[in-house]
Amino acid sequence: MRYPILLFDADNTLFDFPAAERAAFQEVCREAGFSFSEEGYALYHRCNGELWEDFNAGRCTKEFLLVERFRRYLARSGQAGDPEQMNRTHLRMLATSAVLFPDALPVCRILAEKRRLYIITNAVESVQRTRFAASPITPCFQDFFISETVGCGKPEKAYFDYVLARIPGAKPEDCLVIGDSLSSDIRGANNAGLPCCWLNHTGRPRPEGFRIDYEIRALTELLPLLEE
Ligand SMILES: [Mg+2]
Repeated sequence: MRYPILLFDADNTLFDFPAAERAAFQEVCREAGFSFSEEGYALYHRCNGELWEDFNAGRCTKEFLLVERFRRYLARSGQAGDPEQMNRTHLRMLATSAVLFPDALPVCRILAEKRRLYIITNAVESVQRTRFAASPITPCFQDFFISETVGCGKPEKAYFDYVLARIPGAKPEDCLVIGDSLSSDIRGANNAGLPCCWLNHTGRPRPEGFRIDYEIRALTELLPLLEE
């Protein structure tokens, strides 16, 4: 059997992060006594996006960003509220919400019958553990390798070396890395010399400079691919 060991990324591969963010915002609105609207969500998204751009460019800290996005949303929507409380609710919801893509659970259940499945994720330990604990997909997986615990993350070769050293009997050619991110999942598999499968949800053009062994648009395509 090819690839008896499957290494899955979590966010945007198994878990639908945009759906989780949306559900979190709905709860923020409910607690704050606002009614949820598409316009309001779009406005929040713009505030959030601007601030992440500032953060990525080194113009603000993450602590500032987290609260400021709600402060800005309140100011622009002309509503009164407590931005710090809204952010606390948002983070709590994200930590406990585990919105799976619809095909993730059925596909992983089938794959777990014959193969060993592992999660490889760049994340904060406490948030990710809480999310997995709340998810029905967790029993499909033998173990979780969370970057914060490992001490390094994808796409570093050292992260994958750590993972392989902790999977009994793992040889690189037996493993298949599956993920949506070129810069962490696919780059990491390339760095570590592991076979990889790019989950390209939106059909983006295949980039230069990566070894992409397989490409799929949806997780269901893994089943025929692995049976080949
Ligand atoms: Mg991902």
